[in-house]
Amino acid sequence: MKYGRTYNFSAGPAMMPEPVLEEIAAEMMNYRGSGMCVMEMSHRSKVFEDILAEAKADLRKLMGIPDNYKILFVQGGGHVQFAMVPMNLMKNGVACYIETGAWSQKAIKEAQKYGEVKISASSKDKNFSYVPDCSNLDVPANADYVYICENETIHGTTYHKLPDTKGKVLVSDQSSMFLSRPCEVSRYGLIWGGVQKNVGPAGMAVAIIREDLLRDDLDSKVPTYLSYKVHADADSLYNTPNCWAIYCCGKIFRYLLEMGGLAEMDRRNREKAAVLYDFLDQSKLFRGTVAKEDRSLMNVPFATPSKEQDAEVVAATKAAGFDNLKGHRSVGGLRASIYNAMPREGVEALVDFLRKYEAQH
Ligand SMILES: *Cc1c(COP(=O)(O)O)cnc(C)c1O
Repeated sequence: MKYGRTYNFSAGPAMMPEPVLEEIAAEMMNYRGSGMCVMEMSHRSKVFEDILAEAKADLRKLMGIPDNYKILFVQGGGHVQFAMVPMNLMKNGVACYIETGAWSQKAIKEAQKYGEVKISASSKDKNFSYVPDCSNLDVPANADYVYICENETIHGTTYHKLPDTKGKVLVSDQSSMFLSRPCEVSRYGLIWGGVQKNVGPAGMAVAIIREDLLRDDLDSKVPTYLSYKVHADADSLYNTPNCWAIYCCGKIFRYLLEMGGLAEMDRRNREKAAVLYDFLDQSKLFRGTVAKEDRSLMNVPFATPSKEQDAEVVAATKAAGFDNLKGHRSVGGLRASIYNAMPREGVEALVDFLRKYEAQH
């Protein structure tokens, strides 16, 4: 690692690729002869319009987003999306949610303010350590959509197979797995992701929405800013957008395209996660806390037999230069978030450390 940087295993905000940070640093004082930093630019200027257009075109290419989907950059991150989804997509006032952990629960709570929520499947019985069977969900005929959190950041589970929504619109929170693997966009009505986990700076979400879901007839009390159609019609320039985040995300989209796209990212993520999971599977001290078939490639929770030892290991990793390995308070133990930008060497170094710790204890 250069610049005295640390292997940061935070669940978010999280690491960004060094070459991207270097490029941003090089453009900081004068972006491509504009005489300004991107932070200082008018969002109506030609130079920023080009940044926005390029970011969208690159993301469309990267994910293979069909023409009948809009790409929106919306401020407020994940929590605003929890509200926007029901406000915009509940026509009949009924939606199905799959309850797989803390983030789907937050989405459920928010949707309940707006309409009727049916929990079609849940993994609450085992503290969200697996993804429930979603092959034969009970989806009422009047349900407006089926909602999933595709990667539960806190619990470390992911869907390796999408639910059968019985023909209803699928909505997915991809915040902690966005751009980590190929995505068949046409299977979803709406995909959204807060960008601070796997892409760029906090405070913004990317929403990818099928055009026929954009509505003019929202409840008149819905705030203007919270209408997807308003953002779509204004090309994400209804208000002053988070120009800086859009610029940084655009850099990441380009970086991923040049690296070989999402299939290559997926290959690297699988290899990288296997380094840690293979270690956990043979360890006598540490154990992964998630059902094997539902393990996330991004967030890896694990634990020792006792809380005291968990805390000791967290402190020891911190002293050895690995940051943010403490597990979420609702799960305990440790958690290594190994998003796209965590280098494989970071995971190997962590595993070396844990192996030595185990040998000495
Ligand atoms: C972090 C996270 C969120 C919340 O994002 P904020 O930008 O903090 O509102 C929502 N969903 C998932 C899956 C997350 O990991």
